[in-house]
Amino acid sequence: MKCDRCENLAVYTRKYSGEKLCSKCFSNSIVRKTAKTISKYNMIQHNELVAVAVSGGKDSLALLKIINEMASTHNFQIKAITIDEGIPGYRNEALEIVEKFCSELNVEHKVYAYKDLFEMTLDEALELRDNKKTSSCSICGTLRRRAIDFAANDVGADVIATGHNLDDTLQTFVINMLSGDTTKIGWMDPDTSSNSLRKIKPFCEIYESEIVFYAFTNNMPFQSEPCPHMNEGIRTEIREFLNSLENQHSGIKNNLYQSILKVSQIVKNSNSKQKTTCTKCGSECTGNVCSVCSMVLKLKENQT
Ligand code: SF4
Ligand code: ZN
Repeated sequence: MKCDRCENLAVYTRKYSGEKLCSKCFSNSIVRKTAKTISKYNMIQHNELVAVAVSGGKDSLALLKIINEMASTHNFQIKAITIDEGIPGYRNEALEIVEKFCSELNVEHKVYAYKDLFEMTLDEALELRDNKKTSSCSICGTLRRRAIDFAANDVGADVIATGHNLDDTLQTFVINMLSGDTTKIGWMDPDTSSNSLRKIKPFCEIYESEIVFYAFTNNMPFQSEPCPHMNEGIRTEIREFLNSLENQHSGIKNNLYQSILKVSQIVKNSNSKQKTTCTKCGSECTGNVCSVCSMVLKLKENQT
């Protein structure tokens, strides 16, 4: 089977388009799609410093590799940051992989630990939560948002880039819908140009399965050990549900993504009318104190 774009042997069939690609043309298509997303949403301007949040998983390492190649030709700088939740046995493997990968690419790398920032590891925070029904990932995700903001300011970044792919976006949308959290749907708009510290997701239009194949075909190292809390929330079930839909109806994920783009913009515009700033940290929110500050304050109260 020949590649649709060159004379090489095809190794990948893109089910939703029917395209057959060799390893090189496939990788180029991922790089091009990433560049297109960055330019479509004006994600990075000349001379800006981009903090790439690298966890050690395939998405963030692939993003670091691609964005690092782009940096020199597109005239911007990058630094890598990693958040250490303090999850025993899990984060250690990832930290080693990231450290090695960054030194191969010659990218400056800095680690920020929950323990240093919040005086508690994730496991300690989970012990302190009021409601044991609040999922580990929702506590972890809230702490991570604050940690990434801190890290980006600390390295002097203008932009934070994360490796979230199209599947992550769809899952988050469905989770927000199922939990009745419509405010968060407004945050999903990829156009963040009006924010002071922009958070960008250059892989937001690429299927997770394609990032996996990109990492595989480029012999990239990535963490094999999953987080021990991974299956506690509803995300895994939604992921499997969306994958089974896509298997039966190729391209359905793309359709849902297009709907999210429209819906998130409408919600964002309606949220902006009630926007205030958090009295504790100054970030934008819809009440007096933002959700990150109120959760961190509550955990601290329980700690004393
Ligand atoms: Fe945190 Fe959940 Fe990710 Fe584990 S799976 S690192 S608990 S967000
Ligand atoms: Zn706040």
